[in-house]
Parts: sequence; structure tokens; C-alpha cells
Amino acid sequence: VIVAQDVEKWYDNGFHVLKGVSMNVYKGEVLVVMGPSGSGKSTFIRTFNALEPYQKGSIEVDGIKISHDLKNIETIRREVGMVFQQFNLFPHLTVLQNVTLAPIWVRHWPKAKAQEVAMQLLERVGILEQAQKFPGQLSGGQQQRVAIARSLAMQPKVMLFDEPTSALDPEMVREVLDVMRQLATEGMTMVCVTHEVGFAREVADRVVLMDGGYLVEENTPEAFFNNPQEDRTKKFLSQIL
Ligand code: ATP
Ligand code: MG
Repeated sequence: VIVAQDVEKWYDNGFHVLKGVSMNVYKGEVLVVMGPSGSGKSTFIRTFNALEPYQKGSIEVDGIKISHDLKNIETIRREVGMVFQQFNLFPHLTVLQNVTLAPIWVRHWPKAKAQEVAMQLLERVGILEQAQKFPGQLSGGQQQRVAIARSLAMQPKVMLFDEPTSALDPEMVREVLDVMRQLATEGMTMVCVTHEVGFAREVADRVVLMDGGYLVEENTPEAFFNNPQEDRTKKFLSQIL
């Protein structure tokens, strides 16, 4: 679904954050991206939904090349959902309104249809009874599940997760990972930046390590954790395991 080739990016201050990264993400696959802080993980996956411009290389999503014209950005954002570490919900809208907003305004669905789909999604992520509450009235884990439902409401082809559990209290991590696991089982194509080793081992089809703007290793979870090929991966794992 995603074909990224030799992607390079410099920030305005001249910092070379992506130094030629190539990666494919296949339909129905769960790819986990790991790597030390500052290695470019967020920057890289944000290029997949045109949140981050890049200077060299190419990225295609479902056959559509990402460019920087507005029409293209709109199309890409419809195809690629994203969930962030900070849930980024609209605080002044109810849970239901958060989930129906984009389908109504971007997909031009009638309100009744958007609400029906939203309620189904809220049920799927286990927070149907919170539909009329505001984000501030929910726990972090519940807010993150709303954020996932909101992304799914656009019926994306790919879901990007950028450390979706790292802002959560430990007891809430599980409920979010369970929703992600369920999505994976249902065949969603997912790219997840996460340091949740258990999730990566059980759910990922492939695990990649980024370091210093390079993609250092790409492997099956089994090999990545038990028999990594690169010294960088061994060193990284020794720090997190
Ligand atoms: P983390 O695990 O901390 O989230 P990351 O791997 O996601 O790290 P990125 O957020 O992609 O890393 O950032 C990569 C590097 O780019 C960092 O060194 C960061 O300081 C730098 N960087 C990020 N945004 C900017 C910016 N707007 N201008 C300049 N440098 C930036
Ligand atoms: Mg990051």
C-alpha cells in the first residue's frame, strides 16, 4: 500500500533528518518501527500522510504519489489515518462529534449516517457509553480509543500510529494495544512506531530499526528480537529489553 523510495528530508535549519529511507508496506501488514529518540521515526511516518514535506525520493500510497498540492494532500489524508501520542481530540466537541466531524465535512456524509457509523466504531473500541461526553471527562486510554475511532471513521486504507501508548498510564496501555491488536486481526494495514515489545512480537509482521536518519535493520519480529543482524539493533535492544 505504501512504497517509499530513497526519502530524504532536511529541516529548515539544515538538519538532515532522513538520509535516504526506502520501505514498502504491504496490504494487511503490521509494520513496527523502533529506534532511539531523534532517529527520525516520527518524521518518516508523517511523510506518509503528507504531514511532513520531504525534499528527495518518492512516496506512493495506494498508487497515488504524494505531492504538495492541496488536492493531493486531501486525497492522501483520506487514505491514511493517523493516531498520535497526544490524542489531539477537539476538547470542545463531544466524543461523538469528534468522530463524526471529518466524515460530515470531508466525506459529505449525512449526519445520521455519520453518527450511525461513529456509534458502531465507538462500540468496536469499547467506549459506546462515553459518546456524549467531552474528551476532558475521559481517561487517557479512553481518549486514545476515541482518537482511533475518529481515524477509522474516514475508512482509511492505512493507519499510522506514533507512540500511541507512551503518554498513557501503565494500566491504560493494554486497552489501547488490545484495540490495535483487534484492528490488525481484522486485516488493517498498520505502521506503528512503538516500543511495546510484546505488541511487536505478537502482532508485527515486520520490525524495522531506524537510527540517525537511516533504516538500519528490517526483520521478522522473531529474528529482530532473538537474532538481530546489526550491531545497532543489538545495542538498541540491550537498552530497551
Ligand atoms: P522520538 O522517539 O523522540 O519521538 P523520533 O525518532 O520520532 O524521536 P523525530 O521526531 O522524527 O524523531 O525527529 C528526528 C530529529 O529531527 C530530532 O533530532 C529532532 O530534534 C529533529 N527535528 C524534529 N523536528 C524538527 C524541526 N521542525 N526543525 C528542526 N529539527 C527538527
Ligand atoms: Mg517520535
